Amino acid sequence: QKATKHNFGAGPGILPKEVFEEASQAVLNFNNSGLSILEIGHRTKLFQPVMDEAVALAKELMNLDADHEVLFLQGGASTQFYQVPMNLLDEKAVASFTDTGVWATKAIKEAKLFGGVEVVCSSKESNYTYIPKKFDVNPASVYLHLTSNNTIFGTQWQDFTPFYEKNLPLVADMSSDILSRQMDFNKFDLIYAGAQKNIGAAGVTMVVVNKNILGKVSRKLPTMVDYRNHIENGSMLNTPPVFAVYVCMLTLRWLKSKGGVAAIEKENDRKAQLFYDTLDSFPIFKGTTAKEDRSKMNACFVMEDPALEKEFAAICEQEGMVGVKGHRSVGGFRVSMYNALPYESVVALTDVMRNFAISKG
Ligand code: PMP
Repeated sequence: QKATKHNFGAGPGILPKEVFEEASQAVLNFNNSGLSILEIGHRTKLFQPVMDEAVALAKELMNLDADHEVLFLQGGASTQFYQVPMNLLDEKAVASFTDTGVWATKAIKEAKLFGGVEVVCSSKESNYTYIPKKFDVNPASVYLHLTSNNTIFGTQWQDFTPFYEKNLPLVADMSSDILSRQMDFNKFDLIYAGAQKNIGAAGVTMVVVNKNILGKVSRKLPTMVDYRNHIENGSMLNTPPVFAVYVCMLTLRWLKSKGGVAAIEKENDRKAQLFYDTLDSFPIFKGTTAKEDRSKMNACFVMEDPALEKEFAAICEQEGMVGVKGHRSVGGFRVSMYNALPYESVVALTDVMRNFAISKG
């Protein structure tokens, strides 16, 4: 087995090497304070600047306007599946959902506990191999929900026009493609993303919320559920996940130093192009999704002859390709190409694919 690893894992995923190095140093001696980042109080002169910088960098990288607040919360994206409807959806009101995969389904299931839910489109009948292009929405919906990238099935919304046209508050789960491509983030009223793919370590979830949509539901909200309390307390209503927020801050700094979202998008395009071009050059491999809906973050494929999958998986392992096994609901392989994955890793993987295909004639 090769010592050098190429990490294509779906999440927690690869982070920049510089971030691993700086975070390790901070565990030993944070900013020359003589203290570890793991032992400092969150309401101290040492940590407050970390939270402030993380928020400022997120706002800058997403070009957010003054109405949009950035929060760092706990409980993963899965907690947002219920926190969002609790804050926005009254029992007698209705919210609209697009159903493009397992995570969208989970968001739908939780929202139903709190109010009316209408599923406006779904690709479930094809095991989520494509993104529905047209759908109508009940104009009385209090919000419209989407999953921008479907981590498990490898599809991604490429065009948000159908959402913008509906003129409803937009809520998006961007867990697996946040900050990977340019978009008008201000057009979304609530964005949530578990950090563990593109923005940092597991244990923290970024929530971007337009404060004007809050405070309209009639239900009583537990303190920790009400986003307004987190805004008021600068994501420090209780002890924040100090280390995870620090790793986010470092990763956002790294992204800025790389040239921000526009620059990383170019790099992500280059990686995805090389990967999919290789995939399409050898009929031994078969992409599992509609070509126009292919995700640039998670690419799913199977082998034309399923009997070869074991052998290919073994070669991947031997060559240091980590995390390429497909999710159980799709099978085959899944290659995640998050922001921090170097282009060279895609070169290495596509070399393995090419050699394998050629060896099978
Ligand atoms: N939404 C999407 C799109 C995801 O990919 C994931 C995790 N893979 C989740 C939600 C759930 O995130 P968490 O584990 O942070 O709750």
